[in-house]
Amino acid sequence: MLNAIDAVDWSALPGPALRYEPERVAVGLRALATATGLVQAADAGSLLAGGGLVHDHSGEVFPAAVTAVPLLLAIVRHGHPAAGATALGLLDDALAFATHDASTRVATPYAEAVPICCALADRVRGGAGLLDSSGPEGGRLLADADGHWRFDVEEAVAEGDGALAFGALAGRWPGGGTSVAAELHRPGRAVPLVQAVLHHPPEDGHPDACLRLPGVLPDGLAPPAVLFPARCAPAAAGARQP
Ligand SMILES: [Zn+2]
Repeated sequence: MLNAIDAVDWSALPGPALRYEPERVAVGLRALATATGLVQAADAGSLLAGGGLVHDHSGEVFPAAVTAVPLLLAIVRHGHPAAGATALGLLDDALAFATHDASTRVATPYAEAVPICCALADRVRGGAGLLDSSGPEGGRLLADADGHWRFDVEEAVAEGDGALAFGALAGRWPGGGTSVAAELHRPGRAVPLVQAVLHHPPEDGHPDACLRLPGVLPDGLAPPAVLFPARCAPAAAGARQP
């Protein structure tokens, strides 16, 4: 795990100059991964919470936190129990701060400028099995992450004045057949969609689902196309990606 920590150039990740201190990240993660007791875990946690992954005084989260999620999950799995608890607390803070951050976006393999809350949530879901067995705190973290749904379009066909999009839904759609506002990401741009309706929900644990998207042409949904909740990106409604 130490190699994985050192493999990241933390100083290359963006963050506000006065608060993001990348030198804290590798030192803090290494200290947390090798902590053998409560005091060491707490010291490592302070490094990471005071300008490493988050800045707890200002309630900010940095893109480094998204990169660090798999490392924190590995600490939950393999580290000292006190280090695991600290890692879970950091994940919880990061997601809570991110949910109130309307402007920070991060590049991911599936879209170029994902709201930081959704990018974090997606990586947290990657540790679902582990978190399910990590007590109430793990369960709470997963439940919070599931509110940041993601829909990957695999195929789209015309229907009425819009389209049906078939694909995979991760996370939890808000309330059955309710119509929600979404943000549609395709390479080079993100556009707001006023209405997305869950036409067929996932069944039996499979992510396959279908959305009805009034007013959207199927051509505009050719893969790779990914949808996120619009409420996670209020500042960017209508904005084009750089
Ligand atoms: Zn989100």
